[in-house]
Amino acid sequence: MIEIKNLHKAYGALEVLKGVSVTAHRGDVVSLIGSSGSGKSTLLRCANLLEDSQQGDILFKGEPVQWKGSGLGRHPADNKQVTRIRTNLSMVFQQFNLWAHMTILQNVMEAPCTVLGRERGEVDAAARRYLDKVGIGDKCDAYPAQLSGGQQQRAAIARALCMEPEALLFDEPTSALDPELEQEVVRVIKDLANEGRTMLIVTHDMKLAADVSDHVVFLHQGLVEEEGAPEQLFGAPKSERLRGFLSATRAA
Ligand code: ADP
Ligand code: MG
Repeated sequence: MIEIKNLHKAYGALEVLKGVSVTAHRGDVVSLIGSSGSGKSTLLRCANLLEDSQQGDILFKGEPVQWKGSGLGRHPADNKQVTRIRTNLSMVFQQFNLWAHMTILQNVMEAPCTVLGRERGEVDAAARRYLDKVGIGDKCDAYPAQLSGGQQQRAAIARALCMEPEALLFDEPTSALDPELEQEVVRVIKDLANEGRTMLIVTHDMKLAADVSDHVVFLHQGLVEEEGAPEQLFGAPKSERLRGFLSATRAA
């Protein structure tokens, strides 16, 4: 579904990704873990073409992103392709990013109506269904500020689902939440994993990563330091750096 091959990304002189490869097959849950600043968010943003990258390939369902230019001047060549890929890889952010001036229902309906041009009545019904699914069907007419963080993040997940994407990208979806609210979002993510959705999840929550992932990737300073099945990565980490990272995370 998503194939990232040897990706390089710099911000000016700062090399953030130094040749990273990550693959998520259909139905896979792949978690990205690593210290702050290791390039996890950058990788997700490159994957759905919110950021340019300078070298390497990104394939969506086997279709390679077309580039023009090279190095820092490399950009996607085909805007239609960018829209198609981006609308099929819905992203959920740490800070929810809901529109404050719109109700929860309007937030969920906005992109399917404006970006995909879908019929309002149909989107309205789908949006209510997804809000029900994440447990906040009663909050359609509320504004984001009237919801708890956990409810806002579940609204953001409903919004991502309403695009009917082929895959979901999560960037630290529970990091902004108090522990008890974190669990209501974790439950929703686990349900989505059980449905067989394809997901790339950046998370600091090692329990979540261990529970839902088919594959875990440990990034260190812009490179994949170690990867494997969760039992292997968490149970028998090979790299010294990963062992250090895990014991620091467990102590925290
Ligand atoms: P992570 O998500 O693993 O914490 P990020 O991908 O956010 O790491 O950041 C990786 C590195 O890239 C950090 O050194 C960060 O400061 C830098 N970085 C991220 N975004 C930008 C940006 N827009 N401009 C310049 N540097 C950035
Ligand atoms: Mg990040």
